Amino acid sequence: MIYYYITKLVEYGLDTGLIHKQDRVYIINSLLELFQLEQYEEPVQTVSEPSAQLKMSLEEILNGMTDYAYEHGILQENSIVYRDLFDTKIMGLLVPRPSEVVNKFKELYRMDPVKATQYYYKFSQDTDYIRRYRIKKDKKWTIDTEYGSLDITINLSKPEKDPKAIAAAKLAKQSSYPKCQLCRENEGYAGRVNHPARQNHRIIPVELDGEQWGFQYSPYVYYNEHCIVFNYEHIPMIVNKATLRKLFDFVKQFPHYFVGSNADLPIVGGSILTHEHFQGGNYTFAMAKAPVESSFTIPGYPDVRAGIVKWPMSV
Ligand SMILES: [Zn+2]
Repeated sequence: MIYYYITKLVEYGLDTGLIHKQDRVYIINSLLELFQLEQYEEPVQTVSEPSAQLKMSLEEILNGMTDYAYEHGILQENSIVYRDLFDTKIMGLLVPRPSEVVNKFKELYRMDPVKATQYYYKFSQDTDYIRRYRIKKDKKWTIDTEYGSLDITINLSKPEKDPKAIAAAKLAKQSSYPKCQLCRENEGYAGRVNHPARQNHRIIPVELDGEQWGFQYSPYVYYNEHCIVFNYEHIPMIVNKATLRKLFDFVKQFPHYFVGSNADLPIVGGSILTHEHFQGGNYTFAMAKAPVESSFTIPGYPDVRAGIVKWPMSV
């Protein structure tokens, strides 16, 4: 059965464009090595095979492979944290090197920034960095209120930690590499019991206000094309004059996206305050649609329209 899964995963790679025909033998051999196999037996697909079997979802393929790895002693523990670490390693074998992804992005960007982000968003899902089958479990709806149509979301796709992994994480050596989950050193990192695997992750470099930053999607996509823009340096969140220059620099480069800072405040602010970053995406939030209750002008900036929106909380 493992040969069958290998064949299906290679088919998936070809279908999604992650790999090319010329890569087929190379990828099969990489997978054989991972599964400690010495040879490949091409599975024979018979006509009597039910058609449902012919197309297998990525989730089924990875589950089958991970079960095999556990049953054959390649994977030591069978809980979600360990399974996620292992199946990311599998996917990492199918993902092109960072330079190839960046070059492709730049090539598309020269034609149209929309094409570039469409490619990168699909890519981030095809690589399973964004796990489509988990995101599907999230509950989302809108509700009409006097403040407009509000979005309600319940995130069900973040995996719950299992007790074994929590116990192992407690005993694990404290590591400061990568310094946090936003650092660029996550790209290609194998992960460990207390840090997610990112062999399938690729980052797009962007320049904001003369600084090197990275652009990536959130693996948990709370809204359409939910992206994270982060400083290449691991420095604390801050909101100052330069923040505005950086934000505007980003939307100048990606006019179809919004971007904002979750602020450098504990509890109400961003969840990772130790690393300067913004959240953005291709989505219009209710607050952006809210009517302006009172407007004012800022002395010296007659072109800037400012106002306070009708909103239930202070903003
Ligand atoms: Zn960091």
